Amino acid sequence: MVNRAVFLDRDGTINEEVGYVNHIERFHLLPRVGQAIRLLNQHGWKAVVITNQSGVARGYFPESLIHEIHKKMEGLLKKEGAHLDGIYYCPHHPDVGVPPYRQKCRCRKPATGLIEEAVKKLDLDASASYSIGDRGMDIEFAHQVGAKAILVLTGYGKGEWEYFRDRWKVKPDYVAEDLFGAVQWILRQESHKSKIPPPPL
Ligand SMILES: [Mg+2]
Ligand SMILES: [Zn+2]
Repeated sequence: MVNRAVFLDRDGTINEEVGYVNHIERFHLLPRVGQAIRLLNQHGWKAVVITNQSGVARGYFPESLIHEIHKKMEGLLKKEGAHLDGIYYCPHHPDVGVPPYRQKCRCRKPATGLIEEAVKKLDLDASASYSIGDRGMDIEFAHQVGAKAILVLTGYGKGEWEYFRDRWKVKPDYVAEDLFGAVQWILRQESHKSKIPPPPL
């Protein structure tokens, strides 16, 4: 396991939180997101999106829309010189809709099925990785695999932080204004680490 990743939530972290992105025209990147992901690319971090899309199970949109939206997302990022190394989504819900989408799956965050898939595919060290998201659930999710967790105040972030943080089982390692702020913090952490001198022999 040689690579390090930053696991990125999608809605409210990369794009505007609109409830459910049930049409391609409702997908809009948040400010500074292209810049943030480009920075990760330049510093050798794998940028991996992990997103719950229970709108499929709920019957709000077809699974094919997720693929269309992800194509749009990658196109918009490309224009900013940024790319994603993986995109993983869960279309399920444990008790809404019809099978196969209605199921108690292992991939719906905070379950870790999708991270495990990414770890295998991209040869990742999850414990040396970070996760960025706008919900308390994203924090819990990161800590389950030993990754550090950053809450962003975009999307549901501000409300989550203000009204729910006392109830969270785990606290974020950092709270950032947005994705760009979160990435800057990660890079600062890592540059401090590399400045620590090696222990004497
Ligand atoms: Mg989100
Ligand atoms: Zn799932």
